[in-house]
Amino acid sequence: MSTVQCCMCGKKDLSTIEGDGGTECELSDGRWTCGIDCYVRATETPMEEGLWRFWNEKAKTYLAERDSLKALCDEMAKALEEAKFALFSSDMTIKDRADQSMRLALAALAKAKEADHG
Ligand SMILES: [Zn+2]
Repeated sequence: MSTVQCCMCGKKDLSTIEGDGGTECELSDGRWTCGIDCYVRATETPMEEGLWRFWNEKAKTYLAERDSLKALCDEMAKALEEAKFALFSSDMTIKDRADQSMRLALAALAKAKEADHG
């Protein structure tokens, strides 16, 4: 459950998950607004410029999250390659390392999933 609050109207429990269709937006100084009206008031910009900045901020956050997800996918692909290689190897060290890589990748995935729902 999020405890984020709108810095303008005081609305509580704002959704901080990007891409869920919500209108909440984090300001560059770390404050949150519940929607475009509060965003414009908080940043004291004209409506049109506010709208542009609002979606610009949201797109930036979304892209940053997508990048970290892509990095995670790369990690998992690497771990999978190691595992495939280890499958046909008689070297226990290689098997152990592949096993560890898979575990690390899975742990990272579990953490990302947790953060997504937190
Ligand atoms: Zn608000």
